[in-house]
Amino acid sequence: MQLRWTASTWFWTLFVLRPARPSADRPAGVSPPAAQHAPTVAVVGGGLAGLTVVHRLLSPGARLAAQGVDADGDAAPLNARVVLLERDDRLGGKILTESFDGFVVEAAADSFLARKPWARALAEELGLGDELVGSEPGWPRAFVRRAGALVPFPDGLTGLVPTKMGPLWTSGILSPLGCARVAMERWIPRRTSDRDETVASFVRRRFGSELYERLMQPLLGGLYGSSPEQLSIAATFPVLVQAERESGSVTRGLRVQARPESTGGPRPGAPFLSLRGGMGRLTEALEASIESAERLQILRGTTVESVRRTPEGWTIDIEGRSPLFVSAVVITTPAPLAARLLVEHEDLVAALRRIPFTSTSVVTAAYDSANFPRPLEGHGYLNPLSERRKVAGITWSSRKFAGRAPAGRVLLRGFIREPHLPPAGPEGDARLLETLAEELRDAVGLEAAPQWWRVFRWQNSMPGYTLGHLERVRMIEDRVEALPGLFLAGCSYGGVGIPDTVRSGEQAATRLMDHIATRRT
Ligand SMILES: Cc1cc2nc3c(=O)[nH]c(=O)nc-3n(C[C@H](O)[C@H](O)[C@H](O)COP(=O)(O)OP(=O)(O)OC[C@H]3O[C@@H](n4cnc5c(N)ncnc54)[C@H](O)[C@@H]3O)c2cc1C
Repeated sequence: MQLRWTASTWFWTLFVLRPARPSADRPAGVSPPAAQHAPTVAVVGGGLAGLTVVHRLLSPGARLAAQGVDADGDAAPLNARVVLLERDDRLGGKILTESFDGFVVEAAADSFLARKPWARALAEELGLGDELVGSEPGWPRAFVRRAGALVPFPDGLTGLVPTKMGPLWTSGILSPLGCARVAMERWIPRRTSDRDETVASFVRRRFGSELYERLMQPLLGGLYGSSPEQLSIAATFPVLVQAERESGSVTRGLRVQARPESTGGPRPGAPFLSLRGGMGRLTEALEASIESAERLQILRGTTVESVRRTPEGWTIDIEGRSPLFVSAVVITTPAPLAARLLVEHEDLVAALRRIPFTSTSVVTAAYDSANFPRPLEGHGYLNPLSERRKVAGITWSSRKFAGRAPAGRVLLRGFIREPHLPPAGPEGDARLLETLAEELRDAVGLEAAPQWWRVFRWQNSMPGYTLGHLERVRMIEDRVEALPGLFLAGCSYGGVGIPDTVRSGEQAATRLMDHIATRRT
């Protein structure tokens, strides 16, 4: 654990993190929050959500860009001490960029959706506006494998479903019958039930099985890491549900939603944004924005074991050290880990455990461009389940964003998911590389060995918003509301990607500030 001995460290050591003293009327290890005049709040987890929470709590005059939060006004900074507890020795969680020898290597996330405003707004607020870069233009952007061949994704995919028939006909991905079934979508009666439905069932019902199997399954499996047979349509694509409900047809509804008057104007520019130095710049800038704050203590390499409610507030039990007593706590770990911390609250734990997480390995490798028998096209491709490949998809990183590899080199990433993940360790890594090599040989005829390669394993890293997710989240919110001073944030609840994670951190910070302000009045 790294602990920097700044002027305020003595305060923290002596008063807030002091060893537990048994007393007659309290169990050992529990004592009231220290320094009642300035409450202490804890943030568990230093990934993007945790860093956003802390940044928002500490930034004087913070501009709250989150939806439903006063985005124009300046908020007063929180008058409290903040402790950020992170299990790893580094902050950033699932955002990690490594730069060396002219390569910019993303270990996990490489970009974010431009149409969701929260990540972009945060980057601009942190002074990274000039570093924002769009994904490289040009068409086709992505390919899908069909009987072994790479076929371009058709133009006109809006909200992930086809709204233009011409490009779909000419792409050759669907049979004439499959295309005809898609064209019939506007005459399929509107669903009357309000009950949740899986993404697979929704797409099959509206557009037919062929579109689902050949286009939607690889796309969604690639994006979410979970099977669309389990994912909730209401939680993952609310716009599609809304389009059907309001217009009677998804295609018609999406056209209405896409009109400039519905969206507040046209959305020019690239669909995905990143930062010139990689997504790690965002978490680095967040870290830089908070680390010198006098009222903040960052405890890296610190594993929280449990979070318990006491009459005075909350007790944070920490592995290998004395507990921390706080007025409020934000837990930003993935939901199943939050469940482990909150064991005393059975209903809440049960609901948190029902949010499943899947594992992914990212194998990244660099080659000489001359090693490829043909020039590469687009940003990458996806493998439908029907192709029976072990690799879910490949991103040509050096084609997706400029400046990711030196001239004449190709940087790429392969995504390998359960059940194709060997055990961790050098032998497992070598098997992952072999899986990648087989895939590249088969898809683009690459025979050469990489100049270098790396494996990043992300254990239980992607939440699956499965059937009933929204109901589950509502139940979690109700339970949390009954526990004053407890807040949850992160990618487990209201959106799996970077923009929604930022928004969840901002919303949790706002709720926490309201809670502290109410306690004091
Ligand atoms: C392979 C992969 C690719 C992705 N690609 C994209 C992409 O291109 N675009 C996009 O928008 N999103 C992408 N995502 C999703 C995105 O990375 C996440 O939404 C986001 O990073 C989640 O941040 P978080 O803070 O919620 O969670 P995390 O990053 O998981 O942070 C949680 C933190 O809590 C810490 N922690 C856990 N338990 C404890 C404990 N007991 N005590 C203390 N600390 C603890 C962890 O160490 C971690 O640092 C990708 C995810 C993965 C895995």
